[in-house]
Amino acid sequence: MGVGARTPIVAGNWKMNGALNASSDLVAALVAGVGEGGDAEMLLCPPFVYLDAAARWIESTPIALGAQDLASEVEPGAYTGEVAGAMLADVGCTHVIVGHSERRTLYGETDDQVVAKFRAAQSAGLVPILCVGETLAEREDADTAAVVTRQVGAVLDVLGVDALGEAVVAYEPVWAIGTGRTATPDQAQEVHALIRALIGAQSATIAGGLRILYGGSVKGANAAELFAREDIDGGLIGGASLDASEFLTIFHAASG
Ligand code: PEP
Repeated sequence: MGVGARTPIVAGNWKMNGALNASSDLVAALVAGVGEGGDAEMLLCPPFVYLDAAARWIESTPIALGAQDLASEVEPGAYTGEVAGAMLADVGCTHVIVGHSERRTLYGETDDQVVAKFRAAQSAGLVPILCVGETLAEREDADTAAVVTRQVGAVLDVLGVDALGEAVVAYEPVWAIGTGRTATPDQAQEVHALIRALIGAQSATIAGGLRILYGGSVKGANAAELFAREDIDGGLIGGASLDASEFLTIFHAASG
């Protein structure tokens, strides 16, 4: 797994799935199966409305809590429907996903908005998980490197490389999300290495310590071969995070 010092993260992005009782059962099964923790970190990202309950379900366990999105505004105010980073921290979140491809494509989030959310997360003391990745058309046009460079570069240009020191990046090729089509370990490793090199050009220390997760149809059956690659430091898991035994298999593939 990666370069020695990087503890892998396996994060579950539940998206808009679940109900209170079923989510409680899911978390109870994960608490029972997570073990002592240490070799890998487990992170759960339920919908906003279940965060408060989930924080109680995982209390005194090594499992951490994240949100799927946050407001780009930092100060409280008249932003109907938005949830501030400070509110997420208030209910026990330590992490928040920013720039997921579903936010970018379904809700039109631009690189600028993603950067604003990244900054808002850090100003609330949360670790942003910056999602980047190309569409199928972009891959077929050999634009993968350009797209990922632009998406990571948006953060680097505005916030500087130090901002990546307290962040996680997730490479999620859009064509692999929820499609059952996974990037091969070679395809994923190539882009992860590119991302690390982009950041490494500005700070070798920050790049060396940065966790870069792979996301896109990770399952129990393909996790180990992905996580074995040098620059793949765990996964951001959608569909398979809703099934306790599948998610635990993925988690244990990362924790060795
Ligand atoms: C995701 O939504 O971040 C994701 C990777 O989904 P899936 O695992 O279902 O492809």
